Amino acid sequence: MNADPLADLKPELFRPMGADGVYARTALYTRVVEALENFITSLREPESEFLRFPPVMSRGQLEKSGYLGSFPNLLGCVCALHGSEASIRESADRLLTGGDWTASLGPTELVLTPAACYPLYPIAAARGVLPAGGWLFDIEADCFRREPSVHLDRLQSFRMREFVRIGLPEEIVEFRERYLAKAPLIAADLALPHSIEVANDPFFGRVGQVKAVSQRQQALKFELLIPYHPGARPTACMSFNYHREHFGTVWNIRDGGGVLAHTSCVAFGIDRLAVALFAVHGLDPARWPATTRRALGV
Ligand code: ATP
Ligand code: ZN
Ligand code: MG
Repeated sequence: MNADPLADLKPELFRPMGADGVYARTALYTRVVEALENFITSLREPESEFLRFPPVMSRGQLEKSGYLGSFPNLLGCVCALHGSEASIRESADRLLTGGDWTASLGPTELVLTPAACYPLYPIAAARGVLPAGGWLFDIEADCFRREPSVHLDRLQSFRMREFVRIGLPEEIVEFRERYLAKAPLIAADLALPHSIEVANDPFFGRVGQVKAVSQRQQALKFELLIPYHPGARPTACMSFNYHREHFGTVWNIRDGGGVLAHTSCVAFGIDRLAVALFAVHGLDPARWPATTRRALGV
């Protein structure tokens, strides 16, 4: 047994790509991810609209969302060499002489998507007035967060699936309550040990601590936590977030009477859930508990 219990899983599930928390996925791992995605699809509201996002999004949209106020330390920005052919050549060729070609990089209009739902709100807002009953989406993105770690439960590049509800406050509260009530059943279907707890986002800096306390006091975020092995500190594998009127205000989403939309998202950490399945049940899906195999069809 290795000192890090997850280390034994790593060679079967991932291939290193030269950076902590960035991995190629094996066939075994991908088969379970696909089964998990289908299982999650079975949990969604049938009227949900399906959208899949690329790993990059508009920098301007993310800036407008307030991301830099809360998590500037986690953001990855796409940079490129700009300018004339001669200046780009000169910059790139510095690599050949041991110089620093990256000193000439400048930002582009893109950032790496840090959570699946940020690109959604402007798309919804562009549709105009919030209709009666609001909107429901099933979205997913490959997300990036600058939190390098050698541990398999903290990747820099990971997949996040979300069910997002945009509507009036009562609808939003009802949506989140419904999925919070489903959470223990989801964990039971997968035969994963779990707890559900009030949580906070890792807001940056000292001002961030105040935001975190306020978020907890208002119980705006819950997490489904799974211990990867007996006695382990549990890992957050799903989160249930109530953003109140934040995105409604930023993107001016209102119903016909001018009432601001509220939003909520239920996020499935696909990689964390997949690693949890292997960590708890072992590397051979054929030997997983019957309930898990039935839920996933593996
Ligand atoms: P944590 O506190 O563990 O960093 P978080 O509060 O930042 O989690 P959310 O912003 O709620 O997480 O993201 C939704 C879900 O995405 C999380 O519940 C988790 O399952 C997954 N997730 C978040 N960060 C990572 C990461 N670095 N690697 C893998 N999965 C992640
Ligand atoms: Zn979200
Ligand atoms: Mg985090």
